[in-house]
Amino acid sequence: MTPSVIAKAKRIVVKVGSALVTNDGRGLDHERLARWAEQIAALNKQGKEVVLVSSGAIAEGIKRLGWSKRPHALNELQAAAAVGQMGLVEAYERGFRSHGLHTAQVLLTHADLADRERYLNARSTLRTLLGLKVIPIINENDTVTTDEIKVGDNDTLGALVANLIEADALIILTDQPGLYTADPRKHPDAEFVHEAVAGTPELEAMAGGAGSSVGTGGMLTKILAAKRAARSGADTIIASGREDRVLERLAEGERIGTQLLAKQAVYAARRQWLADHLQVRGRLSLDSGAANALVHQGKSLLPIGVVMVEGHFQRGEIVACVDPEGRDIARGLANYSADEARRIARRPSAEIEAILGYVDEPELIHRDNLALL
Ligand code: GLU
Repeated sequence: MTPSVIAKAKRIVVKVGSALVTNDGRGLDHERLARWAEQIAALNKQGKEVVLVSSGAIAEGIKRLGWSKRPHALNELQAAAAVGQMGLVEAYERGFRSHGLHTAQVLLTHADLADRERYLNARSTLRTLLGLKVIPIINENDTVTTDEIKVGDNDTLGALVANLIEADALIILTDQPGLYTADPRKHPDAEFVHEAVAGTPELEAMAGGAGSSVGTGGMLTKILAAKRAARSGADTIIASGREDRVLERLAEGERIGTQLLAKQAVYAARRQWLADHLQVRGRLSLDSGAANALVHQGKSLLPIGVVMVEGHFQRGEIVACVDPEGRDIARGLANYSADEARRIARRPSAEIEAILGYVDEPELIHRDNLALL
């Protein structure tokens, strides 16, 4: 087997899940946190730049507040996150300080990453912190996020951060050893996947596809996170956080867990930002000709290929493009508002002026403002 990709990776995002951080909800596992800090400090000494994405705020908040079970009300979850986040940063700060390293708390929301200016600000702050040899500890800003503006899970957040800082690798530490060809609890003949290419449909099928019990248990979000991270060229490793010295051993080249390689062409930074929009203002349903022109011919989207326009968006806002099978195939910046798009849909561009009384561009989305998914 070839050595782990972590041996050569210079900039790495490490994501640790709630179950690991809080010892399955029993409260912060200080000893384990201290061991990660020790390993990350060792990587840092080797010249690697590491960003830590840590879950566990809500679980630790629930524990600190003495609640017996996870609440359903959003405001209570948000309160728990605010309480628990204190515990997380305290524990990491202490852990890293003993290795002479400073930490920085960075709480992000999807809205921060969707706004181009805030995205660029977050990127430059993280780069500055890494340049200062500070360890950024990132979590979603759960206290202020509602469904409309949240990333939702930290596997996805880890991938977005990997794209944001152009990391070479994303390591997702979990309580499973990695990916199996099928759910090993139900299929005793399931095989362990040591290596695969990120972003293939076969991989998604292995994780059970959307809505399966394994998928909702977390492997699917990890596979989709690997697909997302691959767009900026980052390879992903899914491994057990319970493995002894897992990060240092990976950095030594040892193969642990499942390695998902980024083999696709890397998106340019701006296109990457477009593709990373999880929330969109509207949806354009395309006919098969338009879908084909986008996916296979590198063309712009013309109004004539749009059969339905949903949502409310203004010129310059982000919309999704959906093919006739209902697959989300692209994200782009609309040249016309939703109302205008409804009026010019299915019509040739030469008629735009007669319909709207003016013409901005012949395309509904120009190729330069479009990212395929
Ligand atoms: N941000 C959440 C927390 O810190 C965790 C989300 C996740 O684990 O995916 O509790």
